[in-house]
Amino acid sequence: MTESVDCVVIGAGVIGLACARTLALAGREVIVLEAAGAIGTETSSRNSEVIHAGIYYPPGSVKAVLCVQGKELLYAYCEAHNVAHRRCGKLIVATSPAQIETLHKILAQATANGVHDLKLLTAEEARAMEPQLRCVAALHSPSTGIIDSHGLMLAYQGEAEDHGAMLALHSPVIGGTTQRGAGITLEVGGAEPMTISARTVINSAGLTAQRVAAALQGFPPDKVPPCHYAKGNYYALGGRSPFRHLIYPVPEAAGLGVHLTLDMAGQARFGPDVEWIAKIDYDVDLRRADGFYRAIRDYWPGLKDGQLAPGYAGIRPKLGGPDQAAGDFLIQGPDVHGVGGLVNLFGIESPGLTASLALAKHVAQIACST
Ligand SMILES: Cc1cc2nc3c(=O)[nH]c(=O)nc-3n(C[C@H](O)[C@H](O)[C@H](O)COP(=O)(O)OP(=O)(O)OC[C@H]3O[C@@H](n4cnc5c(N)ncnc54)[C@H](O)[C@@H]3O)c2cc1C
Repeated sequence: MTESVDCVVIGAGVIGLACARTLALAGREVIVLEAAGAIGTETSSRNSEVIHAGIYYPPGSVKAVLCVQGKELLYAYCEAHNVAHRRCGKLIVATSPAQIETLHKILAQATANGVHDLKLLTAEEARAMEPQLRCVAALHSPSTGIIDSHGLMLAYQGEAEDHGAMLALHSPVIGGTTQRGAGITLEVGGAEPMTISARTVINSAGLTAQRVAAALQGFPPDKVPPCHYAKGNYYALGGRSPFRHLIYPVPEAAGLGVHLTLDMAGQARFGPDVEWIAKIDYDVDLRRADGFYRAIRDYWPGLKDGQLAPGYAGIRPKLGGPDQAAGDFLIQGPDVHGVGGLVNLFGIESPGLTASLALAKHVAQIACST
């Protein structure tokens, strides 16, 4: 038997839940299909939990626009819905004179993105804020913060359900058929396999979004972009954090560099590094500890041997590989792939958590106009 529903959201990570919430609030009938037995078990619970200011992304990129919009929406949402968060601010530190020019470039880029509250600090000014810091200059971003990502997902889920959305766990989408102008039929596996036809489908399957799109019969294969996995390992710091702000080095090619972030309990962790991998694997490789000590001591020489313990790992779904430029978010609607009612979300790496509300608003606009 085929069930019929107005909208299906594939994946209950922070993006799928944000989309479900926005669509449900717009009065659409929504079902969220999640392969796992709980919400947010993949990338959405394996990240730095930072509310990004919108500093790093090329001006005009989807990432820049949605991060800057999303940050404001997210702070307001957290206030209104009691989601734990803190606007703790961050310092991006130059540890050599050569890196000062990079700070100036970051400042110019942030300004072009509409982030106007950054301040360039001397080493003395930075150390007045963080006495244990080693640097020659720093950029202070006061609007960067931290958030309880699981609390956020529960809030999105709760609001979506209050507006009629349903969440089906253990419900992997294993294939489907697309019909031009006639909706999409999805095959759902799991213990109780079923077929669901929907007018609108949001593919927010994160690391496997490409696989889901490729499994839809009638979807043009040339519209499935490549997917590369860049794993990021984290190490936790024992004892109390010596820092009150988040501390970031100047960014590196495929990531933001091994930075210090804090959780809502004030516990510090360092990460993520960049490890290109071929398949999903969340084990933290203990041999990477030496690289962490080296990278952290560059800006925190006070780190002692034995203070780091393996934490967890997350995986960035990247559209570009090791030697390619960082890709943008790819929000792919019917105008691109020709399948009415389908929106694919590809390459939703950082700052997806920050951008979640803005991204969901954008997706709902596409979904409600087709
Ligand atoms: C190391 C790292 C650090 C990051 N740090 C930050 C940060 O500090 N700030 C920030 O803003 N962003 C950050 N991000 C980015 C952010 O975490 C992601 O953009 C966001 O979590 C992506 O959410 P998602 O819902 O798209 O994916 P996911 O959380 O992976 O959710 C996808 C869901 O789809 C489900 N699924 C997959 N296939 C199927 C299927 N066939 N059928 C049904 N369900 C399926 C999965 O089980 C999963 O639950 C970071 C990312 C990484 C990897």
